[in-house]
Amino acid sequence: MNFDELKLAPAILKAVHEQGYETPTPIQAQAIPAVLEGHDLLAGAQTGTGKTAAFTLPMLHKLSQLEPGKNRFGGKAIRALVLTPTRELAAQVEESVRDYGKYLNLSSTVIFGGVGMNPQIDRIKRGVDILVATPGRLLDLQGQGHLDLSTVQMLVLDEADRMLDMGFIHDVKKILALVPREKQSLLFSATFSDEIRDLANTLLRNPQSIQV
Ligand code: AMP
Repeated sequence: MNFDELKLAPAILKAVHEQGYETPTPIQAQAIPAVLEGHDLLAGAQTGTGKTAAFTLPMLHKLSQLEPGKNRFGGKAIRALVLTPTRELAAQVEESVRDYGKYLNLSSTVIFGGVGMNPQIDRIKRGVDILVATPGRLLDLQGQGHLDLSTVQMLVLDEADRMLDMGFIHDVKKILALVPREKQSLLFSATFSDEIRDLANTLLRNPQSIQV
């Protein structure tokens, strides 16, 4: 299998080739077509398998094919939300979004706790297509009225098992109540406890399951 067979936009393939990737990893070969077809996804994958590109590449493709909406400040409305357990992972994921999306006209930002809120608030008001966030800070900004998640069309829970291990289950459930029911959802986890399966059953509709 070759990246060119995956029906991704040429601008994305160009960025992927510049990263030096030659062939999709197994998780990418399975996840990318499923996400492009619009399926929800339950993916079992460890770090190092290429899982970030597995959700980022089809997400970028889908967003690049559709017109952005506007937020109430006149900036772009958030269309994709990626939740991660830690700020380090959030920063890495957003860097990947920027690398793979460098030839697309999409914007992204990352928000996490432990740093000032005001630059994050300003950036969100100016508008982004893709928001990568840790749950706590996301809810803080939402609670203060700075964030409108009603326009989210795609939701990714990355490292969902770590998110639950770190005690974020209630935060995640609050966030699920803030995004539309009608959306595409992807859940990535290295392990599958009953709690993860419950979360998957709540969130995912008729998902394709992938295990690498
Ligand atoms: P991840 O599992 O998403 O943390 O990715 C692990 C590492 O694999 C990262 O350094 C990626 O840049 C790299 N990577 C992702 N996809 C590919 C690919 N198809 N070929 C080669 N390296 C890749």
